[in-house]
Amino acid sequence: MGFYLTVLGSGASMPTGHRSCSGQVVNVEGFKILIDAGEGVQNQIRRSHVKMQSIGTILISHLHGDHFFGLPGLISSMHLCGRTEPLDIYAPKGLDEVIDAIFRVSDTQLNFQLTIHTLAPETPQTIFENSKCRITSFPIYHSIETYGFVIAEQPKNSLSLKRDVCKKYTLANDDLLRVKQGADLTLPDGTVVPNSQLTQPPKPIRRYAYCCDTTYNENLIPAIKGVDLLCFDCTFDSKNTELALSKGHGTTVQAATLAKQAEVSQLLLTHFSARFKDITPLLDEAQAIFPNTIAATDLAVIDLQNLAQSND
Ligand SMILES: [Zn+2]
Ligand SMILES: [Zn+2]
Repeated sequence: MGFYLTVLGSGASMPTGHRSCSGQVVNVEGFKILIDAGEGVQNQIRRSHVKMQSIGTILISHLHGDHFFGLPGLISSMHLCGRTEPLDIYAPKGLDEVIDAIFRVSDTQLNFQLTIHTLAPETPQTIFENSKCRITSFPIYHSIETYGFVIAEQPKNSLSLKRDVCKKYTLANDDLLRVKQGADLTLPDGTVVPNSQLTQPPKPIRRYAYCCDTTYNENLIPAIKGVDLLCFDCTFDSKNTELALSKGHGTTVQAATLAKQAEVSQLLLTHFSARFKDITPLLDEAQAIFPNTIAATDLAVIDLQNLAQSND
């Protein structure tokens, strides 16, 4: 289970031979959230370990084509493959009109309940919550209305067991429950084992922040402060700072500077312009400011437990 993300696409604007358009699947204890759905997202899902029908909800950051042109096809395939589970999508205003028009002219009657929620620019606001995670949205700084998201695990209220100590005793399920809630353990011979010997505090919750596409802006800091992993727009290198600003995008130096200012644990660069065939120099620029930086590659799986990246 755990908390990890699968990069479906890490390129900007249009697909290239080695980078697809934006898309990620975040898995929080088995609940899967698709963030953005650029053209080709279905193919990338099929090439990854993610099962299309297991996607629980979808977040669309903004309505540039490289972030949602794959969505109608994905919804259609979910329908054709027999989905009956309701699907909720969170997106800026206008997506509902587009989806309605496409399914009207193609005479598509979905087998499942599709609900499109319109994001509002108040910041930050909780848009979704279940037993696994809480998702907040907040406006970011692009050329059209665009949102960032923070996905946080739900707090774990019970203590976690010290397995190596607990297995010395024969514990019934009721005993385990009481110990996890903080009770001492009384053995059959009357000996009391203090709770502190059996348990440790719950692990702190992990949080993932997604900010793509956006320029650098210090107003983002409160929303992303101290997250375990920040994914940030790195369309350009530092030589193209003016160009980045004019197009509403970020650079290596800006992403790394913001990561440092926001005191995040790790930075993930993404949305690379097709002009950069080798992004090693971009990674070097960012790591010079914020060493704990990695670069997204298509189909990479990034675990928020140990923040390692592997190819799927
Ligand atoms: Zn984009
Ligand atoms: Zn964009």
